[in-house]
Amino acid sequence: MKILLKDVLVVTQNQSREIFHGSVLIEDGFIREVSEGSIDANPETVISGKYAVLPGFINLHTHVAMSIFKGMGDDVPLDKFLEITFTLDARRDAEDIHAGAMLGIAEMLHSGITTFVDFYYSEDVIARAAEKAGIRSVLCWCTLDEEFTTQRGKPLQNAETFIREHRGKPLIIPGVAVQGVYVASDETWLKAREIAEKYGTVCTYHLAETKKEVYEFAKTGRGRPCEHLEKIGFLSQNQIAVHCCYLLRKEIKALAKNGVSVAHCPASNMKLASGVAPVSAMVEEGINTGIGTDSNASNNTLDIVREARIAGLLQKVMFGNPALLPAQTLLDMITVNGAAALGMKNKIGSIETGKRADLVVFNLEHPSLAPADRGNIVPGIVYSASQGAVEYVIVDGEIRVEHGRVNGEEKIVEAAENARRKFPGVFKSG
Ligand SMILES: [Zn+2]
Repeated sequence: MKILLKDVLVVTQNQSREIFHGSVLIEDGFIREVSEGSIDANPETVISGKYAVLPGFINLHTHVAMSIFKGMGDDVPLDKFLEITFTLDARRDAEDIHAGAMLGIAEMLHSGITTFVDFYYSEDVIARAAEKAGIRSVLCWCTLDEEFTTQRGKPLQNAETFIREHRGKPLIIPGVAVQGVYVASDETWLKAREIAEKYGTVCTYHLAETKKEVYEFAKTGRGRPCEHLEKIGFLSQNQIAVHCCYLLRKEIKALAKNGVSVAHCPASNMKLASGVAPVSAMVEEGINTGIGTDSNASNNTLDIVREARIAGLLQKVMFGNPALLPAQTLLDMITVNGAAALGMKNKIGSIETGKRADLVVFNLEHPSLAPADRGNIVPGIVYSASQGAVEYVIVDGEIRVEHGRVNGEEKIVEAAENARRKFPGVFKSG
């Protein structure tokens, strides 16, 4: 299958962040050619118009199957939120997890996400949904101590079995997750690290999300959570620490030294009143930092562009400096930084010959984005564009959003509505 993007604005996100009018040729899932001029090809499909093409966006943290729980745990602090979600999780079945995942994936595609990192149990069900939708995913099976889990079987064993069964699939990277210090012993942390290393995959975990988490943990005499994870030798490359609202400078340095990436989830942190992650300090210390939407229960949207906008605004107002996290950095966070966090820098995150064809095409004539040109396209994307400006999304060379529509989305929404009805009494409405 050959697709030619012809005479469009190409925002490459390559090393020198080149932006030019030109063409991109996609063939067999790869970006075959990128040119400032025209490309001589015989494509099946031509996409041409007042468009900007960017690398597909990368969402570093979500719990996609929770998408049917919108409006379920609003306006409460994190401990109460977790109590509600753990109760709901215990009542879930494969069918409603699948329906929730399909809905969340459709929503993510709408905002130009082509790769997401998921954090949940039942990742085998979510894998089926991701494969069906044709999105790239890094699915990390949630582990925690057995006494706290609602999963059937042993979480660490479940994670390893899942990884073994899903390795080598073209669009799925199976990984492992740890819920957090409040439900995981040192043994669980180190075993999760061992599993990730054994299979050369990603390990992700919630870290220092709330003040309460940090203080309660410190009361046990083991120091602060991040400090403790460093002390037990847990920190390493191929890890994504999520949230990190409460880190001391020395802890930021420890993450940087060990090559840990951070997934910043500003909207979820704001909505739960958890805190503000010191992202500009992290960037200063050289931590590779990307962005996650977190789930539809705590955010309640999976729109990564909106999330990038919030990330920028929040650092600026928090630290009284409008120069913090400029538009280009925000775009980097949802493209190249996301790819680096996943160890996929050579595969995705920019528009360069030889990379996988994960792309998002914006309509420059959409009122939210116009008037747009080469000079203002980067702030245009992160500060101005709404989801309505997303015209096409291509994953691995296949068109997954066409003229702003995900194929079969009516059925996806219907299945999600049916799944939600299985949780009567939980929701205020419906
Ligand atoms: Zn989370």
